[in-house]
Amino acid sequence: MKNICKNIKEILFDDKNKTFFLFCHEAPDGDAIGAMTSFKTILETYFKKYGRSFNFAFNKVECENISLMKKYFFLPYVKEYVENKTFFEKIEGDVGIFFESSNFKRAGFLDENIKLKKIINIDHHNINDFYGDINWVDSSMSSTCEMIYWFLKTLDLPLNKDIATSIYTGILTDTGRFQYSNMNSKIYLILKDLVDEGLDINYIYKQIFALKTKKHIFFEKELLNNLEFFKLNNVNFSYSYIDENFIDKNDITFNDIYGGADYLRDIEDVDISVFVKPKGKNCYKFSMRSNGKYDLTKISKLFDGGGHTFAAGFSVEAKDIFSAKDIFVNIIREKFNLSE
Ligand code: 5GP
Ligand code: MN
Repeated sequence: MKNICKNIKEILFDDKNKTFFLFCHEAPDGDAIGAMTSFKTILETYFKKYGRSFNFAFNKVECENISLMKKYFFLPYVKEYVENKTFFEKIEGDVGIFFESSNFKRAGFLDENIKLKKIINIDHHNINDFYGDINWVDSSMSSTCEMIYWFLKTLDLPLNKDIATSIYTGILTDTGRFQYSNMNSKIYLILKDLVDEGLDINYIYKQIFALKTKKHIFFEKELLNNLEFFKLNNVNFSYSYIDENFIDKNDITFNDIYGGADYLRDIEDVDISVFVKPKGKNCYKFSMRSNGKYDLTKISKLFDGGGHTFAAGFSVEAKDIFSAKDIFVNIIREKFNLSE
């Protein structure tokens, strides 16, 4: 870690590098946005004086997705970027820093629209394509935000309230409010450090979790309506979905649809939960959660997806959501022995 952080520092100090762009994956979660805002705050606070510019590389989709981005407005810079519609179609710069993106494509830009001299890839997913000039990929980390905490410590740079708020947000969301198996005693020490900067814990909780839309509750109702349980190769699955009809009829946005797989995991005897939603025409997004027995990346790899051991996902092309389920069930049944 020390060497990699030093290599990143060298790039930040290198006078050839003036323009920096910060990327994260599409439909960003708390860890992706927290990584962006903590790192930008670090750069603006400690490196701006060297004549550098640091921009978020938001694309149009993210910037116009107000209902998703709104819950991150309490973090530094997000509100001003989204409200001023500061997004990019093409990017030309010296250095791109990619957070949470297991491959280049997940950052949401076409290859030909990005021209960068150097790429720094910072991620904690099990599966990563190592597409950077520097690849800091560490799946032992709870979150990308935890990695940024260690970056700061390694470089001996002080925290401040904005950096702490951003890092806290990523750890909070990626550890399922400090309850998942990626929690450990070291993180409690980090949290103490962060909270000591004067964080408003209850305020952050409310921004992220306590602002459910009524449509999200409709979604949860439908999730339970469609819930089924089945056994494949001796593994107990809970399975549910939301289809195009329900979304259209109830005017549900994709931002009302979240937490499906997490909800279905917390049921007795369930080993793996699966939640499916439409992603585009004839394309369906699968989200999976494991209760600790099975490594989900073994499944997501079969479908060219990614993720973590106990939380992973992928997309399937199919004529409808029922065919997508058949494809999933058949591949699990025929190609994969989960107990291996
Ligand atoms: P979720 O189910 O919450 O969308 O995703 C769970 C985890 O799997 C996240 O870490 C997410 O980044 C990863 N993931 C979900 N879908 C995909 C996918 O299609 N490709 C890749 N590479 N990772 C995915
Ligand atoms: Mn993460």
